[in-house]
Amino acid sequence: MSQIQAIRGMNDVLPAESPLWQRLEGVTRSLLGAYGYEEIRVPVVEHTELFKRAIGEYTDVVEKEMYTFTDRSGDSLTLRPEATAGIARAMISNGLLRGARHRVWFTGPMFRHEKPQKGRYRQFHQIDVEAIGFAGPDVDAELIALTARLWKHLGITRVQLNINSLGTPESRRDYRVKLLEYFEGHASRLDEDSRRRLHGNPLRILDSKNPDMQQVVAGAPLLLDYLDLESKEHFAQLRATLDACGIPYVVNPRLVRGLDYYSRTVFEWITDALGSQDAVCSGGRYDGLVAQLGGDATPAIGFAMGIERVVELLRQNQPDTAGPAADAYVVVSGPRAEVEGCRIVEALRDALPHRRFELNLGGGNFKAQFRRADRSRAALALILGEDEVARGVVSVKPLRAESGQSECPVAELPARVEALLAG
Ligand code: ATP
Ligand code: MG
Repeated sequence: MSQIQAIRGMNDVLPAESPLWQRLEGVTRSLLGAYGYEEIRVPVVEHTELFKRAIGEYTDVVEKEMYTFTDRSGDSLTLRPEATAGIARAMISNGLLRGARHRVWFTGPMFRHEKPQKGRYRQFHQIDVEAIGFAGPDVDAELIALTARLWKHLGITRVQLNINSLGTPESRRDYRVKLLEYFEGHASRLDEDSRRRLHGNPLRILDSKNPDMQQVVAGAPLLLDYLDLESKEHFAQLRATLDACGIPYVVNPRLVRGLDYYSRTVFEWITDALGSQDAVCSGGRYDGLVAQLGGDATPAIGFAMGIERVVELLRQNQPDTAGPAADAYVVVSGPRAEVEGCRIVEALRDALPHRRFELNLGGGNFKAQFRRADRSRAALALILGEDEVARGVVSVKPLRAESGQSECPVAELPARVEALLAG
């Protein structure tokens, strides 16, 4: 029969790779807890309208990347392409805002119909962190400090922080006029996407990934030159705090980010270790989003980290990802020993829950079983043949030390095993 293939751009995380995922998730989870963030979980699907309104009509995500379908009730639903919109929706629909402040994080798969390549997939995973109800540059700086500490805890060094300010929607309006003038003056050099966005949202052109567009984009006026006074002060305070915390950054006036809802601070950690998929963690302030989704006006800032890309950085640092070794391997020979072996290893798991035991499964002669014991990288073999069963003992053989084999009464086994493993 023909094999059923996986969906293009949607990956399996195999057992050999999961230790790196678990390490990243574990380090992130404990760091977020230390900064006072709580976990939130939101659905995989939402009404399509949520993403259209939050992310913006003239974005790559909404124009061409969403997995949108009509369900059996005739509703238009979409697999979430990102988490911020769903989290903001959850805050509003559960009545959690009303002047309250929340620091939350989330992790899970996101879906975008992109062209699959290394570091760019159709199902990918993010860790998403949001501080909702906080207006000042202090939280912007703390959130960035958290990401800098995360790289330190993970031993990742090939990353660089880019920051920029997008100002307020009002200050962007003046800039938009200037930008429109500039791009209209260079209309013949715009690609099809950019021509469509020219009158819808010319800022989107700055985010073009088309190499042929880079030159015309490079000559465009800079948003930083059109900031309102308050946004300028906000940005200066953020920079002063980052300087004081010793966090290096580059001000990148071309950084606009791919989603429409950002205002003021935007930032991106990029790397030169992953080829053209260089963004590993991106975020920014979205003071207008909650109101845009029908909630009370609430300032907020957040970021999303691409797990596949960070895992790839971890893999480059630490290519050997052998799974954990067993502590003891239980060799059993004969039907009575198989029954007794199962009973004994369950008793050991009761007594020593922090230890890892591997029971020989599927029979085999002693030679085959010792070969498996060796592969399990266990420190001890616990040997049970018909003779041991008859006498109520287990033979204990250290596999990595010179000391020889000894016998142990079954009742004393937990204490003996623990003493040998700890010693
Ligand atoms: P890019 O510029 O690489 O397309 P983006 O601006 O679309 O990224 P965001 O929407 O801000 O990305 O998502 C945050 C992070 O999620 C990115 O920095 C990246 O690490 C990761 N990411 C985004 N899209 C993908 C994808 N298709 N596959 C894997 N990771 C992704
Ligand atoms: Mg993208």
